[in-house]
Amino acid sequence: MNITDKFSRKLRDLRISVTDRCNFRCSYCMPKEIYTSDYKFFKKTEILSFEEIIRLTKVLASLGVKKVRLTGGEPLLRNNIHVLVENLKNIQGISDISMTTNGVLLSKEKSILLKKSGLDRLTVSLDSLSNERFTKISGSKYLPSDVITGIENAQTSGFENIKVNMVVKKNINHFDILPMLDNFKNTGCIVRFIEFMDVGNTNLWDKKDVFSLEDILRTISEKYHIKALQKNYSSEVAKRWSYDGGEFGVISSISNPFCGDCSRIRLTAEGKLFTCLFASNSHDIKKLIRSSESDDVIKNYLLDIWSNREDRYSETRIVTDKQKFNKKAEMSYIGG
Ligand code: SAM
Ligand code: SF4
Ligand code: SF4
Repeated sequence: MNITDKFSRKLRDLRISVTDRCNFRCSYCMPKEIYTSDYKFFKKTEILSFEEIIRLTKVLASLGVKKVRLTGGEPLLRNNIHVLVENLKNIQGISDISMTTNGVLLSKEKSILLKKSGLDRLTVSLDSLSNERFTKISGSKYLPSDVITGIENAQTSGFENIKVNMVVKKNINHFDILPMLDNFKNTGCIVRFIEFMDVGNTNLWDKKDVFSLEDILRTISEKYHIKALQKNYSSEVAKRWSYDGGEFGVISSISNPFCGDCSRIRLTAEGKLFTCLFASNSHDIKKLIRSSESDDVIKNYLLDIWSNREDRYSETRIVTDKQKFNKKAEMSYIGG
């Protein structure tokens, strides 16, 4: 079954946040002043079990979902995540499973388990190669070399074309754009530069901190000859370029919104569904799952949600003072 929303957009992708916890405190995502040791993360009983996630994914697959991305918080903090991958992989209709991780828990053993369980693709986040800037941005005890070791472990286990996400903030790490491309030249990794987004309310987003698509391309062109590439598929979020050393991408949700192709639904660790990264309202699917309704009831509920979807936040974004205080879901909760 192929369902469409109010703007004829199909439901194709599911992003699952498997935990709201993280071993980093990135300033643009989980500022450490807010996510302190007193912060109330979800209890184990509050988050969806693997069985519940699998059941819901099966129903979503029957409505057209083909690709699943596991995210968080930090997805590798969830125990036995490879078991979830293995089960999702067996669902009829699901053709691609990927994961976004900060990479520091990608040990040799974990990488092998993930590969064997059927994980198709990995995205690893890395915002700077400078020890000083990395520790400051990530708010963690780790160094860029720990992330690179994780990437190398994943490559040794057979993961190819690993994507490396770098959130670029003006005057914070924009000077790391060229070093990142230099570092990942001819390694098979695809660096993707992400404009700093106004997700949630805690990261104090301001447009003046955005290093835009145009700024990024100008910076890269100072050193490299670049050429635009075609999209791999219609709902791909990153624009792609080749450079003398491989490929890179830019996710420009602020300067170049892509709502027209948005086929993504998002599931939080505690079982809320969001039809947009920037939505204020969600749908409580856990309640339905735990009240042991039949799969048909769940299917109809999902059909209704998607058919009534009208989200296009990035295309209509005008961040007025009033909008700044609209309550939005935090990135670590909704999963990116
Ligand atoms: N912890 C994992 C990680 O960092 O890769 C997965 C979850 S994280 C929320 C998913 C992605 O969102 C990461 O690549 C991260 O850099 C990105 N992200 C988080 N906050 C962002 C923001 N305000 N603007 C743009 N990207 C952001
Ligand atoms: Fe954690 Fe990822 Fe958010 Fe950084 S971006 S705080 S690693 S969830
Ligand atoms: Fe999709 Fe919402 Fe992002 Fe637009 S703003 S691309 S609708 S998630």
